[in-house]
Amino acid sequence: MNKVLVTGGAGFLGSHLCDRLIARGDDVLCVDNFYTGSKRNVAHLFTHPHFEMMRHDVTFPLYVEVNQIFNLACPASPVHYQRDPVQTTKTSVHGAINMLGLAKRVKARILQASTSEVYGDPEVHPQPEAYWGRVNPIGIRSCYDEGKRCAETLFFDYHRQHKLDIKVIRIFNTYGPRMHPNDGRVVSNFIVQALKGEDITIFGDGQQTRSFCYVDDLIEAMLRMMEGPADFTGPVNVGNPSEFTMLALAETVLRLTYSKSKLIYKPLPTDDPRQRKPDIDLVKEKLDWVPHVSLEDGLKETIAYFKKEIADNDAKIY
Ligand code: NAD
Ligand code: UDP
Ligand code: UDP
Repeated sequence: MNKVLVTGGAGFLGSHLCDRLIARGDDVLCVDNFYTGSKRNVAHLFTHPHFEMMRHDVTFPLYVEVNQIFNLACPASPVHYQRDPVQTTKTSVHGAINMLGLAKRVKARILQASTSEVYGDPEVHPQPEAYWGRVNPIGIRSCYDEGKRCAETLFFDYHRQHKLDIKVIRIFNTYGPRMHPNDGRVVSNFIVQALKGEDITIFGDGQQTRSFCYVDDLIEAMLRMMEGPADFTGPVNVGNPSEFTMLALAETVLRLTYSKSKLIYKPLPTDDPRQRKPDIDLVKEKLDWVPHVSLEDGLKETIAYFKKEIADNDAKIY
């Protein structure tokens, strides 16, 4: 049986990955310190005979026996990763060293969930994998961006030095059910604000762009990468190239939720990238993958999820 370790498995992406791995018959060890993740995201798997949950911080060594490792542990939203920036860098760097050390000992294939943030505020658009990025090394986003860049360095050095079987994907903004309602990311913020009738907070002039990928598409690419040929290490971009301004996103969310919330403007956070859109030629060619879910369809699923979450929470209070 394929024994798979998922670090950060109780988080947004990790929990969807655990679902897919269990569904295909793998034995899954989910490791998480619940910093931003939640037992609720995987509670439906607790009684499954092939699922095991372990509370553990990846900055500490981990001795287990597995064939594959998906390394997703790391807070991903700016609000969360800036709360304890030193811990964020430790999670990316010490976490990568420990998981690479584990992969080396047990000869497991290991996949790193890297990020489009390695490109920083890019001056090349869209961003191909060959672009080295424009990252501020000392800013408030650096703990995340530089931590993830250093993790990529470690992956490639373990590959060259110890012949480790590595896979690196650079994930662009992904959204869907089980995003943390308070994690400050734009999709969850706008949907929760619209559903509660609160003001929609546009940072800056709302003309900055992002390209949003629905979670199911993303997980499919992650699985294809893990199962792909050993000589294709990546890094490879995974995301949906359809690009939207934050203003357009807000208007779509308002329309789909039938909300009367007003748009309000707040200052743009420091080092906030102006535009972001993946060049996905490489993933198309190597893994025969393209995203299928449109922003509108993905938002409808995500809105339905948050509606239920808000109703459940209200039911708890009253
Ligand atoms: P998330 O915050 O929902 O999940 C991260 C998980 O890691 C959480 O369950 C958290 O508790 C856990 N974690 C954090 N620090 C840990 C530690 N030291 N030890 C053990 N567990 C720890 O975020 P997500 O969106 O699911 O992101 C998952 C991964 O994908 C992250 O590595 C993130 O950088 C990467 N990524 C996500 C996106 C996106 O748009 N969602 C984009 C690019 C990259
Ligand atoms: N490590 C781990 N689990 C293992 C093997 C190693 O967590 O099964 C950790 C170990 O604590 C070490 C790190 O991974 O600090 C890097 O391991 P490696 O073998 O590359 O280096 P070394 O042990 O020589 O420092
Ligand atoms: N943003 C916004 N309102 C919010 C939250 C975010 O306008 O309530 C903007 C943010 O400034 C950025 C974009 O939306 O330009 C995406 O932000 P997010 O935190 O989701 O992701 P990232 O900046 O890491 O791509």
